[in-house]
Amino acid sequence: MDREELAPHVEEVARVLGNNADKEEILKELETYLNHYRVTLDWAKRNIVKKKGGDPNALQGGGGRKTVAELTGSEQSVDILVKVLTVNPKTIEVGGAQKSIVYGLVADETGKVPYTIWETEAVQLKEGDTVIIHNAYTKEYKGAPQLNLGNRASVEESEEVLDVAGMPSGGGSKEVKVSELADGMNFVIISGKITKLESKEVVASGEKKNIITGVLTDETGSVEFTVWGESKLAEGMEVRLVGAYVKSWRGMPKLNLGDRVEVQVLTDGTLGDVSSGTPKVRTLEDVELSGGGMDIMIRGTIVDIREGSGLVMRCPDCKRVLQKSTCRVHGKVKGTDDLRIKAILDDGTSSMNVVFGKDLTERLMGLTMEQAVKLTMEERNPELIMEMAEEKLFAQTLEVRGMVRSDDFGPMMIAKEANIFERNVRDEGAKMLTDMEGFN
Ligand SMILES: [Zn+2]
Repeated sequence: MDREELAPHVEEVARVLGNNADKEEILKELETYLNHYRVTLDWAKRNIVKKKGGDPNALQGGGGRKTVAELTGSEQSVDILVKVLTVNPKTIEVGGAQKSIVYGLVADETGKVPYTIWETEAVQLKEGDTVIIHNAYTKEYKGAPQLNLGNRASVEESEEVLDVAGMPSGGGSKEVKVSELADGMNFVIISGKITKLESKEVVASGEKKNIITGVLTDETGSVEFTVWGESKLAEGMEVRLVGAYVKSWRGMPKLNLGDRVEVQVLTDGTLGDVSSGTPKVRTLEDVELSGGGMDIMIRGTIVDIREGSGLVMRCPDCKRVLQKSTCRVHGKVKGTDDLRIKAILDDGTSSMNVVFGKDLTERLMGLTMEQAVKLTMEERNPELIMEMAEEKLFAQTLEVRGMVRSDDFGPMMIAKEANIFERNVRDEGAKMLTDMEGFN
């Protein structure tokens, strides 16, 4: 869609968000969603409104309407425009009595979802029809949403005919890279190497069960995944996954491999050496849209060194930072020294909080923790190290790599690598001045 076609949709989103909405920014985000993430227009509009704190149901035709990719598994009443792919009648036993149900698959251009009709007298579906299902509800089954048509559900024939024929067997449309994964994506096709795999026992609805978690890596980054059910995966294996879906967990997009995912084992070496690669540099706007990730590289400028940077004391029991020698949980304790920098990094597209731990802080500052403690005592200034960090790092451009999680305050990185990417302009100026003075 070009800008002209998008204009009325930008207007609509701006109207829902109120008068001070930035239309240029809405247009940019719409374009990113549509061209980069290839989601539907509906989904993109809803997500932008949601992200900016508006009510997506205020969008036209938005009253409870969702796309397949938007289903969370906890909708109590949802309307959805879908094409009916399969219809299978089945008799089940409920409390000793026979009951007829119908199950199958429906799809829109964002993905497929299994459905069950519980009241077959009231609602019928026909293969190949495009319909609007009203008042369905969803439940999560093995980590994936399922659509249920109960006694409140109704079906309306749609004039719009959905073309979902282009979807390969697992749905979705094009193969994506790890750096492109975003919360809510459904029927994802992705290739990568299993760089970590472990089996965990969890308790789900009072039952103990084994789940398998791991890490999938490609040349753009790594993502955690969970397998719900049987698995033929092994560490070091190169695979192509068809039909996985993405859900944020603890502030990071995570890949879920449900029952319907197809695992294609690739010949070793197909993907090249992915595990030793460094992720490509991404923009903060892009990271914000995707919600974070376990291994992200950003190049940006430090625009603020935050309060709480420098030398801090931690509780020996829980590692919380002490305020006036007092732990929020353990009271007055004898703290242990730690060194950190909390900074705001800006790359021109957006900004993000970054935390540098002791080792990185030592390296960036060119100062050991012992030296920091000694200096602080000598100068009798508890904020000395923070002031030095400001002096040294403010306006520097850094390349940082680490884990990014998102919460209500936006994305935050725990850095595991950091390199000063280019010299500060101020330093360059100072150096030039010295050179000239020396010359004189
Ligand atoms: Zn404590």
